[in-house]
Order: sequence, then structure tokens, then C-alpha cells
Amino acid sequence: IDPQATLDTPLLADNVQLIGGEWLPAASGETIDVINPADRGLLGRVPRSNAEDVDAAVQAAERALPGWRDTNATARAGLLLRWASLVEENAQILDQLESRDVGRPHWGPSPLAGMIRFIAGQADKVQGVSLPTYSPDVLGFTLREPYGVVGAIIPWNAPGPMFTNEVAAAIAAGNTIVIKPAEDAPLAPLALARLAMDAGIPAGVINVVTGLGSEAGAAIPRHPGIRRVGFTGSPATGSLVMESCARNLIPLHLELGGKSPQVIFPDADLAVAAPAIATGITLNTGQICAAGSRVVVHRSVHQEVVERLAEAMQKVTVGPWHQQVNMGPLINGRQHERVMGYIEAGRAGGADVVVGGDVPSGGDYGDGYFVNPTLFDNVSPDMTIAQEEIFGPVLSVIPVDSEQEAIEVANGVDYGLVASVWTQDVGTAVRMSRALQAGQVGVNNALGAGVIGGPFGGYKSSGFGRTMGADAVLNWTQIKTVSMRGATPAA
Ligand code: NAD
Repeated sequence: IDPQATLDTPLLADNVQLIGGEWLPAASGETIDVINPADRGLLGRVPRSNAEDVDAAVQAAERALPGWRDTNATARAGLLLRWASLVEENAQILDQLESRDVGRPHWGPSPLAGMIRFIAGQADKVQGVSLPTYSPDVLGFTLREPYGVVGAIIPWNAPGPMFTNEVAAAIAAGNTIVIKPAEDAPLAPLALARLAMDAGIPAGVINVVTGLGSEAGAAIPRHPGIRRVGFTGSPATGSLVMESCARNLIPLHLELGGKSPQVIFPDADLAVAAPAIATGITLNTGQICAAGSRVVVHRSVHQEVVERLAEAMQKVTVGPWHQQVNMGPLINGRQHERVMGYIEAGRAGGADVVVGGDVPSGGDYGDGYFVNPTLFDNVSPDMTIAQEEIFGPVLSVIPVDSEQEAIEVANGVDYGLVASVWTQDVGTAVRMSRALQAGQVGVNNALGAGVIGGPFGGYKSSGFGRTMGADAVLNWTQIKTVSMRGATPAA
């Protein structure tokens, strides 16, 4: 892979964002530098927008709304399918853009085109129901209608999939959207938006405003023209976004963090479980909301699990995104400090560092925000590292003595995004699938992934509402009940 080649693409231009079909700088002219976290090199510049640009984007989305809402659903699906084809044709460049922006090694085949195709297939399946009525003169039914102009704010850890999920579902339902990518990783979203324009999705249907969270981001839920919001990010910011939505009395869905447990029973196939769990916490350098960051293991296999996890985590190679490594850097200096702070807290709290706990140095690591995969053993459930989302490659092992204790520990955090159970016993799998408080449960599956069209979202403080799957499109619709009486009574 040529590390310099990725930005040389007609899909990107310097310092522009998409408003009403035009590629424009911020009204203020200000810019943000986009940095490669593997070497702190400058990847490009994007507009540093504020409320003025968000207002222009909302107005453009309002102008596009009647035409898009009234385009028949099959035609909307057709445009989404064309977008998916262009995304597929450009999969390699999109993958390289995202890798470089996030600092991530190549992730395998891109899911993006398939995600758009699935959503396109839902566009003309948004249906109401017919209802019984008190009188035979009346017909009753429901319509599912778009909200109108909607807003979305997405994080940097998987910018392509996040952008695709929110945008495809919102516009499939007939909404027009203003979306703000994260300031740390805006490049793949901008390229995806350009491909949507090339596919013939009309101007103003998708508007991408780049900028800081406290400026452009905060302006989206505050804008009176926005009718619904989708937010993916941290619980602290989600709470702020929800406050703004509350003031405007508009609905939202929140996709927040996780502290996903991996519950290991004595009958689990440990040779399969350990490497899968190690991959689950080091993929994307642990910066995945679904990352399984707590191993809750029966004491009878505790020692063997720790040995196998240590072996698997020591094999994880760390380095710049373009090398054939397993794990790249963290996204920025702030995250690096945060993760190292948690590692210190783990040590200070009395947990044992079995692997890592430090940063790699010298050679190719240079100025990158690298950290080694870190395994803590003998963690107690109330320690900070067992309770708070670290968003780094840090795994905590918590030994327990019974199924009941495993359930209490697994559920004993504020989060409820993903939970996995490792067992070969069907009865255990069934009981645990019901007992675990999480929006997704994986049985012998570390990230709970692999289902096509599965709705994705959280229990408890991990959020509410669902992205992905058919529910994602319905999320972006509101229901109208129609009762229709003939103008003249029956003779
Ligand atoms: P973050 O909350 O700091 O930022 C997310 C987005 O919100 C960014 O675009 C940011 O610019 C914007 N933002 C920041 N302040 C804002 C404000 N005051 N008003 C409006 N927008 C604002 O989160 P992050 O650090 O970028 O992402 C990491 C977090 O995201 C983790 O907690 C992770 O678990 C979560 N996440 C959740 C999911 C999920 O589906 N549940 C997926 C990916 C990431």
C-alpha cells in the first residue's frame, strides 16, 4: 500500500463541505486541520463551520424537502442503489481514506455498499396499517411519513459506516438531512457525499457540515428547522444534545458507549474464545463502541483464560496504518492521555498488568499516538477500569464463582450495548441471552456482529432507538392516523 496515494482522489477537494449541492468553505472562512494519528502529518483541511453554516444547510434541506418527500419510494430506492454501486466501485479509495484518517490498518471487505443496498430495499417497504372503524362510512389507516429536515452527528471511530447508516436510513424514509462528521475524521463522509451527488441524489437532500462539536455540532439540535436528531458519540455529549432536543421538543435517538462483557463458562471452547476476544478489544485499537472490554470468567478456567488471552494479545502487531499490522494508533493526543490515565488507574487500583500497559517506542512509531494492547487480571467489578468506557485496547479480567455472580457483574455497569456469552451448552446460552442487559447479545461471538439487517442500539446508558436494519428507516418516520369519511353519506 502506498501511504501517500490516498488523498490524491477527485472525491475530495481542499476545505469544502456540501450545502445545497454546492461545495463551499465555511462562511467564516475558518478551517480545521485533519491529522493522521499515526504520524501527526497533515492530511487536509476542512471548513470550521458554525451556526451560520448549519442554518444555510437547514435552509437548503428545506428547499429540497418537498421534491424528495414526494419522489416515489421506489425511485428513492433506485437512487440509493446507484449510490451503492458507486460506493462499491470506489471501495478501495474509501477504505484507504478512512484508514488514513482514523489510523487504522485495512479492515477487510468494505461493508458500505451492502449497508446502503439493505436500506434501499427498505425504502418502498415503509408501510402503514389499515384500522377498524366505528362506522362503515369511514376508512381508517396509518401513514408513516418522514419528519422533514433531520440532523445527525457522528463520531470518528468508524466514519464511513456511521455516515452511511444515518444518511441512507434518513433519506430512504423521505427526509432531507444535515449531518456533521467528527472533526477528527471527516474525509470518508465527504467522499461518500460526493458519490451520492454523482449518483443523482438531488442537491440539498444530503448536506454535510464539517466543524467542531461545540460549534457546528451544537448548532444542529438547537436549530428550530430540525425535526429529529440522530446522535452517535459519548454519553456526555449525548446528554447535551438531548437537552437541546428537549428545549425544541423534538425526538432523537442516541447511540452511546459500551462496557461490553464477555462471559466465559467452564465449558466454553477457550481455543476459539481467547483469540476472538483479543481481536474484539484490539480491532480499531479498541475504539469500537461494541468492544468487549470486560472478561467475566468462571474461576475454574480463569488461569487458562488469562494465559490464552495473554498469548493472543502478545501476537497483536502495532504500527502505522499502511503496514501489515493488526492495530494502529489511537485517534488523537487527548484519547492517548485518557487511555494511559485509565491504565495508571488500573495499576493504582491493584489490578495486575499481564500484557502491555505501556507505549511502543522508536522506529516507525515516531509521533504517533500508539499504545500497546493491555491485559489486566484480577480486576474487581467496582474498579474504574471495570466500570468506565476506556475506548482503547484495554481488557479487564474479572473472575467469578457462579452463573448468578456472572450475571450480576456483567449487568453491573451503566452501559448495555453488547454482551457475549461463551458456552457450548444450549441451556446456558438461552438463559444468558435473556439475562444479559444489552441491545445485542453474542453467543460465542465477541462483537455480536454478523447479522444482516440486525437493529443496533443500546440498553440503559448506551442509548435508545436503533440504527441499522429495517428499524433504522422506521426510526426516521412518524405515524399519522387517517380517518376518511365519504363527502356524501350513503343513500
Ligand atoms: P463525542 O461525543 O466527543 O463526539 C461525537 C460527535 O459529537 C462528534 O462529531 C463531535 O464533534 C460532536 N460533538 C461534540 N460536542 C458536541 C456538542 N456540544 N454538541 C453537539 N455535538 C457535539 O464522542 P467521540 O469521542 O467522538 O466518540 C467516541 C464515543 O462514541 C464513545 O463513547 C463511543 O462508545 C461512542 N460510539 C458509540 C457508537 C454506538 O453505535 N453506540 C458507535 C461509535 C462510537
